[in-house]
Amino acid sequence: MATKRDYYEILGVSRNATQDEIKKAYRKLARKYHPDLNPNNKEAEEKFKEISEAYQVLSDPEKRKLYDMYGHAAFAGAGAGEEAHGFGGINFEDIFGFSRGRSSDFGSIFEDLEDIFDAFVGGRRRRTGGRKTYQAERGEDIYQTLTISLEDAYHGKTVTLEVPRYVICEKCAGTGVKAGSETKTCPTCGGTGMVGRTSGFIHISQTCPNCSGTGIIQEPCDACNGRGLVMTKETVKVKTPPGVDNGSKLRIPGKGHSGRFGGPSGDLYVIINITPHPLFERKGDNLYIKANIKVTEAIKGTEIEVPLLNGKTEKVKIHSGIQSGGTVRVHGKGMPRLKSKGYGDLIVVVNVEIPSEKELSRKAKKLVDELDNELPPVSKRFEKPSER
Ligand SMILES: [Zn+2]
Ligand SMILES: [Zn+2]
Repeated sequence: MATKRDYYEILGVSRNATQDEIKKAYRKLARKYHPDLNPNNKEAEEKFKEISEAYQVLSDPEKRKLYDMYGHAAFAGAGAGEEAHGFGGINFEDIFGFSRGRSSDFGSIFEDLEDIFDAFVGGRRRRTGGRKTYQAERGEDIYQTLTISLEDAYHGKTVTLEVPRYVICEKCAGTGVKAGSETKTCPTCGGTGMVGRTSGFIHISQTCPNCSGTGIIQEPCDACNGRGLVMTKETVKVKTPPGVDNGSKLRIPGKGHSGRFGGPSGDLYVIINITPHPLFERKGDNLYIKANIKVTEAIKGTEIEVPLLNGKTEKVKIHSGIQSGGTVRVHGKGMPRLKSKGYGDLIVVVNVEIPSEKELSRKAKKLVDELDNELPPVSKRFEKPSER
């Protein structure tokens, strides 16, 4: 079985993406890979199916929640063995022909499509061809989000995760079949595994719901209901390396769902989500902090004590004549570099706080008047904004 890609990755959105962002990403991709725009392009059609499936899950808050917790296994129908990839035997082009016939406007085709997807993904069936041939199947990967603080990302952290994963059912050794049960040909499909239905000019051929496409009927194992796999919770210790970023993926081999019929287990992917820090902003390996200084400090220059993410502080010189928005770079005081040695930089963004006259004492006001007479005029009254 092919490994399915992460739905967020497919749509190119972050795991924190809003419904609106997800919708936008879907529409953009759907327009690019729409079969009408890519006639006879199998690759585009596959892509289109993939993004539509991802959207179908991520656009539904309930399904999205399940997906975040269990990964693809959440939608594996009756089990995490081989599951319906795409649309479970429904002829895609037929559905498209139908939609195309009704409307020539792309926008509304997409609206129609969403309804159609919802309609048939809801009715899609699991295909378990593996049960007939007992082909080795690799287990599904599990994607689990781990939320940590920026401090944890800095230092690295060992966490214990409770991972819901499917493991081989011991009672039936993963076959899903009750010991000693008889094998009969499925009466619904006559052993073909497919059933067809014609409605108007659409022909829909679908995986047989009675036998899940195997063409045979066997008594299911009562411990796993024929899935061959049972859900367990496994404790997995994960050490996040110093310097992980938002969206960093840690792969823990073999900790995904168990494979069937001798197939290997999938992998566990822990996806890092870092909560926003109250002081620091991170860009790559660099950290940014804003420092407010007095207007006199900006004129004279000053030295300030800047907090660091590791709890220490660093004395930073602000040079005389710094402008508001000017920056001071402190080398090696940023985040640890994940892929190499050393640290990024800390960038202090200076903001010169200019008080209004109301805030000034009478004496200060007088001094400002005096200062106004003494200060040199601005070097150039007007210039292009980009030239500073
Ligand atoms: Zn079983
Ligand atoms: Zn059947």
